[in-house]
Amino acid sequence: MFKLYNRCTLFKGFLAACAVVLLFPIHSSAKENETSEMKTVQHVYVDDDFVGSLTDDKGLQSSLEEKVEDTKAAYPDAVINADSQVTLIPEQMFEEPDRDSLVIDKVIHDLKVKADAYEIMIGDEGVAYVSSKADAEEVIKSILLQYVTEKELEQYEGKKQGEVNDTQESRVTDILLSKSVESKAVHVDPAKLIDVKEAIEVINEGTHVNAVYETKDEETLADIEDITDVEITRLLELNPDINDETKLESGTELQVEVPVSYLDIRVEREVFRNKKIAFETKIIKDEQLYEGEKKTDVKGKPGNRVITYKTIEMNGQPIEETVTDDRVASEAVTQVEREGTKEVPSRGTGTFAWPADGGYISSKQGQRWGKLHKGIDIARPVTKTITAADNGVVEFAGIGSGYGNMVIIDHKNGYKTTYAHLDSLAVHSGQVVPKGTKIGVMGSTGHSTGVHLHFEIHKNGALADPLKYINQ
Ligand SMILES: [Zn+2]
Repeated sequence: MFKLYNRCTLFKGFLAACAVVLLFPIHSSAKENETSEMKTVQHVYVDDDFVGSLTDDKGLQSSLEEKVEDTKAAYPDAVINADSQVTLIPEQMFEEPDRDSLVIDKVIHDLKVKADAYEIMIGDEGVAYVSSKADAEEVIKSILLQYVTEKELEQYEGKKQGEVNDTQESRVTDILLSKSVESKAVHVDPAKLIDVKEAIEVINEGTHVNAVYETKDEETLADIEDITDVEITRLLELNPDINDETKLESGTELQVEVPVSYLDIRVEREVFRNKKIAFETKIIKDEQLYEGEKKTDVKGKPGNRVITYKTIEMNGQPIEETVTDDRVASEAVTQVEREGTKEVPSRGTGTFAWPADGGYISSKQGQRWGKLHKGIDIARPVTKTITAADNGVVEFAGIGSGYGNMVIIDHKNGYKTTYAHLDSLAVHSGQVVPKGTKIGVMGSTGHSTGVHLHFEIHKNGALADPLKYINQ
């Protein structure tokens, strides 16, 4: 438990004891009494400081063990270092030492039992004590992981070992610490040990340096607290010659504290970003198509650019971004369209075509169930396509009361035709429709009892009989 030294040159305390031995013969005339009155005592040192002398070290041993056990109980998580700083040096002496119990009490009082610890060093400054090397490494890694992801860190470490990254994923190219970060084994008072989380907080919080603040016109301590972020109580501590009553003259120099980080972490990355390239549209005039008609020969497709950036972050804050490469990964495909130039006949010919694909007349114009049936009904067609009976312009395409989905075409020659109960419409109002243009699909919308087309012809605003104009 404690070390015994016999070499008297080890401690300065010993030299004083030697002096007593050397001086004694001057005051003693009875040389033969020397050996009979001399006793072996143990000089006790704690951390090289002389505490007292014992005639018997047995009591000290058990007291030391007890103190170590007490410390272990108080700090169950710490690894208590049982290597004592107590040293005993024996000596033959004539003088009666102090009472052993007093010396033991003083040794126990002076002795600080220590725990195994790792000190985290940033630069040459120790910032925290943790209880194991694994904890110290976790703290250091956690600090880094505030600014890079675990995956990035792994890739970065891998790259440092010579692995090649040829993927197009963004990656960390450099991590620079403003100071070295490492840990070293030490022994400390177990009260100084903190856990990983606390150590991270301590490092993130940083420290501060002293600075001088020169006051301006009529600034109060409260103003200075706002500006410098140093609390008034602390300002008064730092500047003992002022108090909260002092009127500060302009130009007064005050001691303040400025926060500084223990460590700045600069992360450089190579970042790839994709950017769409819009496609162009080429239009070819085509006289085979009616004006307003359009056909797409080649469908356009956007291209892709890959832009490479070098980004720099300092403690997580972006500070720089530069483009290092910009290349086309895939070209855009130009869309090719044809637009019709053939003039559309909007004026009717005066002769009407059958508006359905086959079918038969299921109901004629005239009185039906006490009401006038204004047109004819055509049912059971081959396909359900409904077509314009003559050239014209769509006057209405929408829902009519009782008619359901309907189209009215103005033939611009005094005639209009109506197509009702359509399932769906294929034209819009204002559209020029040459004779035979598909205008919708036969259906049973509105007041209808089955799928059929209701067809009307109007001449100069008056109802006409369709059967006088169309043939099946
Ligand atoms: Zn009808």
